[in-house]
Amino acid sequence: MTEMIDPFGRHVSYLRVSVTDRCDFRCHYCMSEDMAFLPKRDVLSLEELDRLCSAFVRKGVKKLRITGGEPLVRRNIMSLFENLGRHLKTGALEELTLTTNGSQLARFAEQLVECGVRRINVSVDTRDPAKFQHITRWGNLDKVMDGIAAAKAAGLQIKINAVALREFNEHEFDDMIAWCGDEGFDLTLIETMPMGDIGGDRVDQYLPLSTVRQRLEENWTLTDIPFRSGGPARYVEIAETGRKLGFITPLTHNFCESCNRVRLTCTGTLYMCLGQDDAANLLEPLRASEGDQLLEDAIDEAIGRKPKGHDFVIERGRSGPAVSRHMSVTGG
Ligand code: SAM
Ligand code: SF4
Repeated sequence: MTEMIDPFGRHVSYLRVSVTDRCDFRCHYCMSEDMAFLPKRDVLSLEELDRLCSAFVRKGVKKLRITGGEPLVRRNIMSLFENLGRHLKTGALEELTLTTNGSQLARFAEQLVECGVRRINVSVDTRDPAKFQHITRWGNLDKVMDGIAAAKAAGLQIKINAVALREFNEHEFDDMIAWCGDEGFDLTLIETMPMGDIGGDRVDQYLPLSTVRQRLEENWTLTDIPFRSGGPARYVEIAETGRKLGFITPLTHNFCESCNRVRLTCTGTLYMCLGQDDAANLLEPLRASEGDQLLEDAIDEAIGRKPKGHDFVIERGRSGPAVSRHMSVTGG
């Protein structure tokens, strides 16, 4: 079995899988209010998703992140976690994890633990209930907080993700750091990325994290640490809380040289880079035969096309997103 090494010598060991493009929220920076979703017939079955993920595990994927859309709104999603959990038991897979908006966590936290999930990312951009409802359009902060509490009680390690938005949450990060410190959560701040038409201008939302970091350093002692997840995040340790703080800055820094990941959508499309449109169709080889040889050949061919880096830029005068698909398609 050949492992996945791209033309730039990067070893692909991390697969993110968007299991649905649907969501029970409509976050302003992610979706427009009247999103058109994929017809159900175009979406892979959970069995097909399992087959695809398993092919990637055989080809050397050690870390699998389930995302969306909102993964926990997909019907029967726990059966996918249960099935994928078998790769943890054999040791082929090192980590099975999840990115969620938290709305369904109260229901699923314990089952996730039973399936072998140990760590999850939960997106919370603000702890103010009115602002939370505004930014998510349809979300309810209490429900998310109940979900986070259930996840903590079930023993899951939690990382909070917050998108940094000018004039929205830029003065809340001290409070978020203190909260995460009290609760034992790590925190990652994310710059907005120009993905998909959201019916508004992203330039006004864009807040460089270099500015955020400077402000935070007035109140907290931040020390760079070498911790890497192979992705765009750079981490510091906060001396006062002992927790990690991550900065995801695809626009101000280039992180591509150490990229170890590819992304699969719920239609079986493989994106070799979050910031490029080139993609490979794995649906055809998946459905063309019961064996997995065609599929594995198609994966090899796709990895051979993984680009060197992304083309993200947000600037005035440049209209439209850098890539046309929404983050909910490729799953962030
Ligand atoms: N629904 C889940 C959630 O919100 O965590 C999983 C999918 S969501 C697309 C994954 C992450 O992408 C979330 O943390 C979200 O805040 C982030 N995100 C969505 N659109 C973004 C954008 N345009 N720029 C930066 N981050 C974005
Ligand atoms: Fe849904 Fe997550 Fe996108 Fe918000 S960021 S609309 S929760 S997919």
